[in-house]
Amino acid sequence: MKLIIIGNGIAGLTLARLCSRYDSSISTTIISKEAYYTYSRPLLPKIISKSITEEKIWLDSSERSLAANIQTLLDCTVNKVDTKNKTIELICHDTPAVLSYDILVFATGSIPSELPFPVRKTPGIFTIRTLKDVYRLQERLKIYNESALIIGGGLLGIEIAENTLKAGVKKVQILEYAPRLLPRQLDEKGSMVLQQHLESEGLIVKTGIHVTGIDSVQSIGVHPVSDKIQVHTETQPFMGQSVILAAGVTPNVTLAKESGLEVQRGIVVDNTMQTSVADIYALGDCAEFENKTWGIIPAALEQCSIAASHICNKDKQYYKGTVPSTRLESGNLVILSKGKIDLSPEEIKSGQYREEVELSKENGLLYHKKILEGDSLLGEISIKKIVS
Ligand SMILES: Cc1cc2nc3c(=O)[nH]c(=O)nc-3n(C[C@H](O)[C@H](O)[C@H](O)COP(=O)(O)OP(=O)(O)OC[C@H]3O[C@@H](n4cnc5c(N)ncnc54)[C@H](O)[C@@H]3O)c2cc1C
Repeated sequence: MKLIIIGNGIAGLTLARLCSRYDSSISTTIISKEAYYTYSRPLLPKIISKSITEEKIWLDSSERSLAANIQTLLDCTVNKVDTKNKTIELICHDTPAVLSYDILVFATGSIPSELPFPVRKTPGIFTIRTLKDVYRLQERLKIYNESALIIGGGLLGIEIAENTLKAGVKKVQILEYAPRLLPRQLDEKGSMVLQQHLESEGLIVKTGIHVTGIDSVQSIGVHPVSDKIQVHTETQPFMGQSVILAAGVTPNVTLAKESGLEVQRGIVVDNTMQTSVADIYALGDCAEFENKTWGIIPAALEQCSIAASHICNKDKQYYKGTVPSTRLESGNLVILSKGKIDLSPEEIKSGQYREEVELSKENGLLYHKKILEGDSLLGEISIKKIVS
């Protein structure tokens, strides 16, 4: 069987490894737009500050790929899928090629979400999705280390902000649209504990900020260090030498759409991770199941096991969705959030659910809240200080 996987993120790589373990006779090819073997995206912010060395991020290498009997084509972009003849067209290092498949998998991941206004591609404005993005930001911060603005106070924005500060930028401000940080992962009390902690580290956090435009303000005839980017908001403008956009991600579905697959926000899949077209699967950040996309690694890993069981026809499992879980390590804080994190006034009134809050300071615990339905745990938040 010829299995082709588009994308060598954690989803593409995990699926390839599972399939080659299930059935060593499968010929697996992974195709990657990026020029690198798979690396851990969650570790990218730590590379900005050089808190870890680059060798720590690699999840794959040419040796490991060969040992698992997986062919990995790097720096290659798939531009077309002919679903009738079961072929794909790609450009590898400027050379066009056509490959045929028996099973095709979209593991094309996601891309940084665009802001609701056009942003000119000016030096000094960044998104962080790839290792190349990190290298570009590091070059900028070598010269421009007075100030940076991070647009978005989600998990990604917070980690980037902390590491930009650690990299030596003197003033780092987070501009968050919502009235509090991590509104999907934390309740009000949890967000407050996190914000106080970030401020104690030296970050400036502004919430409820509606960004309306971004302009570069170039000084003429002055040393480039004074070049600034202006971020317009519904209230006051903010200035920074670098602006990092961390306003969420969008499933990367362009190729799937052009190939005639059913696409809504993500590529629509059933409970076997199969798309609307026979013999084509989708998983990881690009996949949508029951109107939901996840954008987190636990979901990608779960989806890989399901897809591998069907592609290889072994121990078949069926996807039911993933309970979102998040872990953020921020300085000496560990924040965990899983499942349902808040109750609406109607839910409280119904008497069906209850909250249990623990505010004890024992073992570094700052805040712990559980949401229960009877004796079943529906979700929890825990914020802990690492006590050494
Ligand atoms: C900085 C950062 C921190 C994060 N932290 C966390 C965290 O703490 N916890 C967590 O759970 N998640 C985290 N995430 C999200 C997590 O990294 C993603 O959920 C995960 O990477 C998704 O994996 P994937 O394989 O679906 O897609 P991706 O990792 O996006 O990989 C998709 C690959 O497909 C390639 N591709 C796309 N189209 C084509 C094409 N046409 N031809 C060839 N190749 C193509 C892309 O170039 C890319 O390399 C973080 C993400 C970032 C960027």
